[in-house]
Amino acid sequence: MKETKGGIRKKLLPIVILPIILLSFLITVVGVTLFYSFYTQSIRDELISTTDTLIDCLDFAISGDYQYINEMLFKGDLNITDSTMLLRIKEQSEIDTTFFWNDLRIMTTIEDEYGISAVGTKADSRVSDVVLKQGMSYSSKDLSINGKNYIGYYVPLKNTGGEVVGMIFAGKQKDLVYHKITEVIIWFAVFSVLMIAFSLLITLKFSSSMIADINSINSFLKAISEGNLRSRLGNRVVNRKDEIGSIGLYALKMRDNLQKLIERDALTELYNRRSCHNMLSAISQKNELYCVVMCDIDFFKKVNDTYGHDAGDYVLQEVSGLIRKNVSEYGFASRWGGEEFLLVFRLGYEDTVARTRQLRQSILEHDFTYEKTKMDITMTFGVADGTEFIRYENVIKKADEKLYIGKNNGRNQVVA
Ligand code: GH3
Ligand code: MG
Ligand code: MG
Repeated sequence: MKETKGGIRKKLLPIVILPIILLSFLITVVGVTLFYSFYTQSIRDELISTTDTLIDCLDFAISGDYQYINEMLFKGDLNITDSTMLLRIKEQSEIDTTFFWNDLRIMTTIEDEYGISAVGTKADSRVSDVVLKQGMSYSSKDLSINGKNYIGYYVPLKNTGGEVVGMIFAGKQKDLVYHKITEVIIWFAVFSVLMIAFSLLITLKFSSSMIADINSINSFLKAISEGNLRSRLGNRVVNRKDEIGSIGLYALKMRDNLQKLIERDALTELYNRRSCHNMLSAISQKNELYCVVMCDIDFFKKVNDTYGHDAGDYVLQEVSGLIRKNVSEYGFASRWGGEEFLLVFRLGYEDTVARTRQLRQSILEHDFTYEKTKMDITMTFGVADGTEFIRYENVIKKADEKLYIGKNNGRNQVVA
């Protein structure tokens, strides 16, 4: 027969792990996309508030129009060509800012990779079109300035008459954004790996107890299939409240029923002749104390002939019930054949004789009424002492001889 080793676990692991890997990947993609969108939006808000604050501060503190004279920017009479504030903003919030006169950078924190300031360079023509010509703000997540990529925001710099004379730019380098996103991806990855490891641990723990119980049932059924009906199934399996527990319970029931079928007589549920032989053989081999009683229902053929076969079966069942009641506490009883029974008492000879007499009396006094017809039933018994012979077959033979004597002496008696 085919033996399987670890098949369930091999199948179970991918079922558990694959969805987690897929889910982690999905969560990472969706999470990073959402984070990118929220983060760039929040940067945009930050840039707008930076340019607004710069313009408001200048308008609030200094009155007058902007002028650009001799490469210097004036507001009213005040020369405001001073990058200190812009550098402070960069220091505090990593935001680059630029003052444009028309499309010319006249103050900026933007430098190229060699540290050379972008002052003197010009704005992109697309930006100039929107901000200088149309007087509107311009926002982009994809600007290239001085060889670096920016998320940026431009607002027009207006004089009192509404005339656009320049622009103010605020922007954040995309490298910083990418850096932040990489950080987020790493966190997601760490979280995913932890989740996978945790699920793996739980799966292994859960599946190992489950697989151990399935293996117990497997071994139990294998033993039964090989004819070992004495095989046992651990309590842990049977106490499970799931399908495995139920399979365990049914396997146990199957064994018990098989055992009954093999060891017991179907009509009376007493042991059959074969299992009685086996048990007696075991007892005599161990030299244990026992006595054998062979007994037989008197004139049973007449019961069948007078009241019918079903009435005969009823008598057999009633007699078996009385036998079981009188014997089971001290030994066991078997249906030896037809209306003949072999009782084994794990008692000494005197006690066995006493119990047998009691049984004869209870049969005599029992009310055997089948379909309103009362029948008089008696039994004859032959008792033999197990200590008298080495072979249990001889003990049975002796009991049988005594039963025969009882039958010849008028029946309904115990021959000791
Ligand atoms: P004695 O007192 O000498 O034992 O007489 P008896 O009639 O009991 O003995 P006999 O051996 O002549 O008859 C036994 C009868 O038991 C014959 C048989 O049909 C009947 N018998 C055997 N097995 C069953 C059974 O399972 N059901 C029924 N109803 N009858 C059975
Ligand atoms: Mg008989
Ligand atoms: Mg008989």
